[in-house]
Amino acid sequence: MSESLLNFINGTWRESASGETFTNEDPSRRGSELNRAAASTEADIEAAVTAAATAFMEWSSTTIGERQTFALRFLDALESASEELSVLVSKENGKTIAESRGEVASALLEGQHHVRQMAVFSGETAPRVDSDVTAWEQFHPLGVVGVISPWNYPMNVMCRKTLPALLTGNTVVFKPASFTPWSGVFMADLFAKAGLPKGVFNCVTGRGSAIGNCLIQDPRVRAISFTGSTEVGRQILAMASTDFTRTQLELGGKNAMIVLADADLDAAVDATIKAGFGCAGQWCTSTSRVLLVPEIAEAYTEKLLARCEASVVGDPLDASTTMGPVAGPSQFNGIAAAIAKAESEGAWLRYGGVSNNSDGYYILPTVFDGVTRAMGLFHEEVFGPVLALSTVADLDEAMTWANDSDYGLSSAIFTRDMDAALHYVREIEAGMAHVNIHSGFKTPELPFGGWKESGFGPPENGRVGLEFFVERKAVYIKGQGQ
Ligand code: NAP
Ligand code: MG
Repeated sequence: MSESLLNFINGTWRESASGETFTNEDPSRRGSELNRAAASTEADIEAAVTAAATAFMEWSSTTIGERQTFALRFLDALESASEELSVLVSKENGKTIAESRGEVASALLEGQHHVRQMAVFSGETAPRVDSDVTAWEQFHPLGVVGVISPWNYPMNVMCRKTLPALLTGNTVVFKPASFTPWSGVFMADLFAKAGLPKGVFNCVTGRGSAIGNCLIQDPRVRAISFTGSTEVGRQILAMASTDFTRTQLELGGKNAMIVLADADLDAAVDATIKAGFGCAGQWCTSTSRVLLVPEIAEAYTEKLLARCEASVVGDPLDASTTMGPVAGPSQFNGIAAAIAKAESEGAWLRYGGVSNNSDGYYILPTVFDGVTRAMGLFHEEVFGPVLALSTVADLDEAMTWANDSDYGLSSAIFTRDMDAALHYVREIEAGMAHVNIHSGFKTPELPFGGWKESGFGPPENGRVGLEFFVERKAVYIKGQGQ
């Protein structure tokens, strides 16, 4: 019998109010059961929000130094558990063990940055408004914050939201994605080990479609930080608008990479493999469209196909594996359908497709060539290891094609021409622009978010990643002093 994962509410571990559970499957073994997680109901969300609302008074009165101490204890616990956590993430999500280790390292780097930047997080001052008026802006926490995270970066994304929320004095109700409840519950345990006062951090597992609405619509929840699909983001925004609940929505993408005639092709292919097939392409900032000028199109494609031939798709815990399975049956079915649709639209399948290995949810690194702007593959997010290659006349046409998207999350260009690079940086309609670096590269000092249908509300990370979680107050004081 497998172990059951419990909710963490008001400092205690409990079953869901209904006692119901759901299966957490290992995607490298179809039909397996790693463990079962609490299938929560509205009553569990109600209990968690009540605990968080009750804890808010005391937590919001703690000093920034005290909150930093808790956050550092949590990060120490995370670092100590990093190998155990990496194995667990690979088991329930399917990404390779190297990718899971990379995710933990990224969460640590970002978390340490947020702790540091909290030390200098203060409002503007207007020291001489009038001869006898001093004025400043001060920050106040919002209250209870709902964190809803996806399964593709199950612990890094929740840390990127939760630590800034807690550091700025808010309390949190966290709902992990249903493909990855284990890492969510594991993180809750680390917060418990860090000695966080009861109710400050709560974790409730269960279907987003069943419990998301009660979290979002509870008037005590003052902000929702969500990462996931554009479709669900739109529903959240509509629900949140009733009570003017603040939203931070990190959504889908269809990220383009442009390769010009003077590019270092080996570097461009390396970046494509990393950003296109890393985490089996289930990466919001993954490269999914490649726009090639005719001079290098065939040379680039041959190098790319050679790298695909050399890939090893299989068990994520085997060190020789370069790509694991996709996260679960709905992911597998959606990606297989997108591949079939691209073929029916006339795109040329140069490599890949569904794997013959049916032990798990395996898709090979897949490359389509000759993709036109009329095809669904050019516009629709696949969220899998599927690249769409198109040949464009020149930089101008590449920019037009790159911007022909409802999405605008990340992007990249490979060129040695500084003018071309700067033109791309100015013109690209995306929250992230990369020159000679893959589209998934990021640093916590800078905002992480998208334009158009890739994001809404302030981005994560950077100073703005803290600002999302505070109210502002302008203070005016009249007096001469002695
Ligand atoms: P999803 O279906 O939107 O789910 C994301 C989260 O929302 C999950 O925790 C899910 O719970 C929950 N949810 C589902 N329906 C809900 C509802 N009605 N109300 C409240 N919560 C609800 O997305 P996904 O398939 O997990 O993730 C893939 C998507 O995330 C892709 O589009 C990808 O581009 C995007 N993404 C974006 C970023 C970014 O930073 N921009 C980063 C990573 C991923 P359940 O799991 O229980 O359904
Ligand atoms: Mg799973």
